[in-house]
Amino acid sequence: MAIRQIRTNGDEILRKKSKEVKEITPSVITLLDDMAETMYEANGVGLAAPQVGVLKRVVVIDIGEGLIELINPVVVETKGSQIGSEGCLSIPGACADVDRPEYVKVEALNRDGEKIVVEGTELLAVALCHETDHLDGVLYIDKAIGEIEGI
Ligand code: ZN
Repeated sequence: MAIRQIRTNGDEILRKKSKEVKEITPSVITLLDDMAETMYEANGVGLAAPQVGVLKRVVVIDIGEGLIELINPVVVETKGSQIGSEGCLSIPGACADVDRPEYVKVEALNRDGEKIVVEGTELLAVALCHETDHLDGVLYIDKAIGEIEGI
């Protein structure tokens, strides 16, 4: 495993659309391992592959309840709404309020290529939305309500 460099706001790769993973190769497994290590090292709760310069639909999340690895995640259901302060490892020091669903259901593949369903509320719902947005080149600051602090 290795720590990868986290790309920051202004790097055009953060604005590109990531490609679906067609085959879970050893390089995808290494990517998952490196992304988890990089996220923990940076004290983040989530990281998407474009943030380490890889345009693949791969996400890791850990809100303190264990590591979640998602390959090709798709948000299939949302309910309600919650407004909370968000930050991003790619926009160091900044935060802003964002309106997100209160409940989110995501379908994805795990590292063994099996279909998984992840449901989240509160912080997990936010993380699922925030990280899948990264795969489409969308940053939370695009959705910020009011002022973005620290940018
Ligand atoms: Zn982010």
